[in-house]
Amino acid sequence: MKKKKLSEVIGDTRQILCEYSLCDHCLGRLFEKKLGVLSYDKLGQKIRYILKQKNPKSCYICKSLMSELDTHLRKMLEISKEYEFSTFLVGAVLQPSILDRDDIIRSKLKLRGIAGIKSEVTREIGKRFGRKTRTKVDYDNPDVVFTMDFKRDSCEIKPKAVILQGRYAKKIRGISQKQKPCIHCEGKGCFHCDFHGISDFNSVEGRMAKFLFEKFGAQQAKITWIGSEDESSLVLGKGRPFFAKLTSPHKRNIAFPKKIKLDGVSFLNLHVIPKIPSDSIKFRTYVEVEVEAEGEIDPNMLKQLHHLKDTPIMVREGSGWKNKKRIYGIKFKKKTENSFTALLQMDGGIPVKRLVSGSEVEPSFSSILENQCKCRTFDFHKIILAN
Ligand SMILES: [Zn+2]
Ligand SMILES: [Zn+2]
Repeated sequence: MKKKKLSEVIGDTRQILCEYSLCDHCLGRLFEKKLGVLSYDKLGQKIRYILKQKNPKSCYICKSLMSELDTHLRKMLEISKEYEFSTFLVGAVLQPSILDRDDIIRSKLKLRGIAGIKSEVTREIGKRFGRKTRTKVDYDNPDVVFTMDFKRDSCEIKPKAVILQGRYAKKIRGISQKQKPCIHCEGKGCFHCDFHGISDFNSVEGRMAKFLFEKFGAQQAKITWIGSEDESSLVLGKGRPFFAKLTSPHKRNIAFPKKIKLDGVSFLNLHVIPKIPSDSIKFRTYVEVEVEAEGEIDPNMLKQLHHLKDTPIMVREGSGWKNKKRIYGIKFKKKTENSFTALLQMDGGIPVKRLVSGSEVEPSFSSILENQCKCRTFDFHKIILAN
């Protein structure tokens, strides 16, 4: 940067600059674009030298905000101490009067396209914070977002949710899949449930949530299940896939052992992933059902169950019938006069108990056997994701 050029640049505006006292940061920011300089405060110092001005006591635009940024930086360092992150973003709420004064000066100096005071505050404090914590600013997908509210003199941190994928197996009966929400807040989170949204931890979901809360220091866990089962069902083999979204986590990167045993339920291959797939997830299940019929079962009629493979299964949902799901394989074994076991290989999402009873499902065990059937238990042997 040549001295001559600098004095040319400020030439026309010399009068205005002498009327308003501005700090080095604000001064430098106003002319940075014309000169292509990155260090605003150094540029400000040089301009001040040409103007033969002393350091002002207070800046007309920012009222010393820029020179007091380290006070706010300390708040960011303090509040972020317990969080694990490698990227961040800073947002700021400024006094409207600061923004107004910034606009006044910019229009008086007829300067267009230069960074406003707000972006300068977040840029500068972000630069210092990144240097101190060895982390990076990320505009698209930061691990944590800071909101610096200079109006209320507060600093908040919001960590990005952690997403996990895994499978669970359930080898004892009597554990429900889902947890009932806290009765006081219906799952939103309140004092009674420690803001977790659930206050009991006796289901698959509850056991999983408790474990994840402890590991990640998270507040809530939202589970996406790949299919569902009954409290009395077993989930065998490699288990049922699921996704978990953890809100407000303190930790982000945890490696788990291949198998985690939690009181009747085990979690397999649990690992952190970038995001939950947005497409609907197709899957197939191998399910074993214990069936009890009202009348005696004719062994020849039982063979008719093979016809379940011939047509799509129609399932009533709301006001319409859907018939896109299929059964690919069926094996059965008579146990008593009026009961048998069947092993089905079928598309995920067919309601097992209704497939047996025939309640708004067609064809069904009941309709084919011409004998009202009831599903006593159903256990999952295998669940395969389509892609
Ligand atoms: Zn200033
Ligand atoms: Zn609650």
